[in-house]
Amino acid sequence: MSILTQKTISKKISLKGIGIHSGKKAELNILPASPNSGIIFKRVDLEKNNFVYPLYNNVTDTTLCTTISNEYGIKVSTIEHLMGALYASGVDNAIIELDSQEVPIMDGSAKVFIEHINNVGLKFSDSPIKILKINKKVKIEDAEKYISIDKSNISGDIEFEIKYDNKVIKNQKNKINVFEDKLDDIMSSRTFCLYEDIEKLNKLGLGKGGSLDNAVVIKKNKILNKDGLRNKLEFVNHKILDCMGDLFLSGYKIIGSVKCSQGGHKLTNKLLRELFSNKSNYSLIEIKGKQLPYTFTNYLNLKSIA
Ligand SMILES: [Zn+2]
Repeated sequence: MSILTQKTISKKISLKGIGIHSGKKAELNILPASPNSGIIFKRVDLEKNNFVYPLYNNVTDTTLCTTISNEYGIKVSTIEHLMGALYASGVDNAIIELDSQEVPIMDGSAKVFIEHINNVGLKFSDSPIKILKINKKVKIEDAEKYISIDKSNISGDIEFEIKYDNKVIKNQKNKINVFEDKLDDIMSSRTFCLYEDIEKLNKLGLGKGGSLDNAVVIKKNKILNKDGLRNKLEFVNHKILDCMGDLFLSGYKIIGSVKCSQGGHKLTNKLLRELFSNKSNYSLIEIKGKQLPYTFTNYLNLKSIA
């Protein structure tokens, strides 16, 4: 994707679906927005105090999905796949109208969002994109799980591994470059769960909208979805999609190397909080359209706005 100037979608996108956790119907409209507005959620089922910003410090719950809240306690949940699709497509600015608390799950991946974004296309502005450049390694550990982000001169990469006792999922590992790789497999990889966990989810009041239409379900050594997997690494690829969506809550394109083992929404959010807690960890950089650099390495030296 081209990442040099800020972009929005060129036309309104409308989608309908259900929330995987709430089971509630939701209608979602993605609207073009002007440069420097960022991504903004608007709860159109409410009349006031209804804007919620998808930023790391507005995350109030990470139980099985990412939930953001504003200062009035208005929430939007399960934002991560849509945020991943916007990040992968290079959409910097958009208003997302939602008539319910939860973003519809669609097919459990970011595929439908990506298809709609590709159908309407992007509108390019002259405003420089904002880049978060990592200066120092930050790591969050939680028992055997960890996530870290370290500096990188030219790329935004994510390396992820999962380790499951389940014989179908087992151990999977993949590494992607967010800005250079074709991300079709990442974007089309669906959320997944073990059959034996469904009852636990329901007891927590979660997963009410879950079905084989929007999740891969594994029972012992069998995948219950009749068409099987969409790609060989679908499980870890979905975790990379989640990670991309959660990282976009930094509000920036990230130049850095992310490594994660068995992490998820909670760890990624902790990482961003730790990263932004110390200004020496990062630099915020603007790239001017007219100063198009030859390589990333050159233009990272251009102008620091931090
Ligand atoms: Zn997910």
